Amino acid sequence: MKQIPLSRPDITGLEKKIVCEVLDTPYLSMGPKTRAFENEFVKQIGVNHAVAVSSGTAGLHVLIKIAGVKEGDEVITSPFSFIASSNVILFEKAKPVFVDIDPLTLNIDSQKVVELIGSNYEFDGKVLRNKKTGAILRALLPVHIFGHPVDMDPLLEISEKYALPIIEDSCEAIGAEYYSKKLGKWVKVGTLGIGGVFAFYPNKQITTGEGGIIVTNHENVARIARSLINQGRGDNPVWLEHIRLGYNYRMDELSAALGYAQMLRLDEILQKREEVAGRYYELMKDIDEIELPYVADWAKISWFVFVIRVKDSIDRSKFMDFLRSHGVASKPYFTPIHLQKFYVERFGYSAGMFPVTEDVSSRTVAIPFYSSLTEKDQKYVVDVIKEALRKA
Ligand SMILES: *Cc1c(COP(=O)(O)O)cnc(C)c1O
Repeated sequence: MKQIPLSRPDITGLEKKIVCEVLDTPYLSMGPKTRAFENEFVKQIGVNHAVAVSSGTAGLHVLIKIAGVKEGDEVITSPFSFIASSNVILFEKAKPVFVDIDPLTLNIDSQKVVELIGSNYEFDGKVLRNKKTGAILRALLPVHIFGHPVDMDPLLEISEKYALPIIEDSCEAIGAEYYSKKLGKWVKVGTLGIGGVFAFYPNKQITTGEGGIIVTNHENVARIARSLINQGRGDNPVWLEHIRLGYNYRMDELSAALGYAQMLRLDEILQKREEVAGRYYELMKDIDEIELPYVADWAKISWFVFVIRVKDSIDRSKFMDFLRSHGVASKPYFTPIHLQKFYVERFGYSAGMFPVTEDVSSRTVAIPFYSSLTEKDQKYVVDVIKEALRKA
């Protein structure tokens, strides 16, 4: 029987050649391919600095440190995300304050963030404090989920008004663009806050195996990030002089070489993914029992996954079982972060607190999606989906 995976990296001869070149050099870490990889981000994303790191999670953690998030602080973020975006807040013993999502874009509802800050925090001229607990709100951490940009303007206003840093989790959204009315132009995600992070696990648009990158327009953010990822070394490293507590979050040269080659093909890869998404829309436009991904007119999505939502009347686990038994991979994306057991125990979150997230999470199904997915296989997937809907 046909087996159609959920995702598949897009690796060509170019990647193989460039990765192999590294093996003929003495530079297996911090070498020229890492610099070349970073330079591609500076060029293609249009930022001043890029710092390659060992994972998307590592990149987000570094930005959390740079934003000054400390024990007892609060950070506003989305409960509908991959758990890493929230875990990095816990790494620093701070508290994620979740705000429910917009039912269309599935991103944090920016208007609700504005309302929450207006009602629960007061500004003392320097920082925003939680009126009840006195805790400091130290940052906003929006996540551009499934490659669809967050409505950033309301967050940018807040950020300016209160000098509140924004960390953009752009891990799923390389190349996505947002039309900012405030700035009067299209802007690439990842470039709007103190820094943004892209990630390269093999299911992402481009891969380095494991890896991530921090992009920023701020020189001091880049400088401290370079130190933090390299055991806290100073700018002009004297061997074994460490000026702060740092980590080993470096990307190795082989991963960077793979990423560099992928970046040379970024437009091609994103274009192919867009074509695959377009075919799914066409093939599924008449199916009443499913909702297709929404794209706002102020958004240029970068296709990460293709997530459909089944209507309430459909039994999702039966639906997915049927897909599996016909060789079609699928996954629910995501489980709400606030309902993960250790979040419930630690912060007292409970079901019902973020109803849009909980409703969406109960109905999402990611279906096979990758640049080399053929029209024939897509037709097969959709035929299986139609049959599954009749049975579930
Ligand atoms: C992939 C991803 C990350 C980072 O993941 P790593 O596996 O650490 O590279 C962070 N946030 C979101 C939303 C992601 O999808």
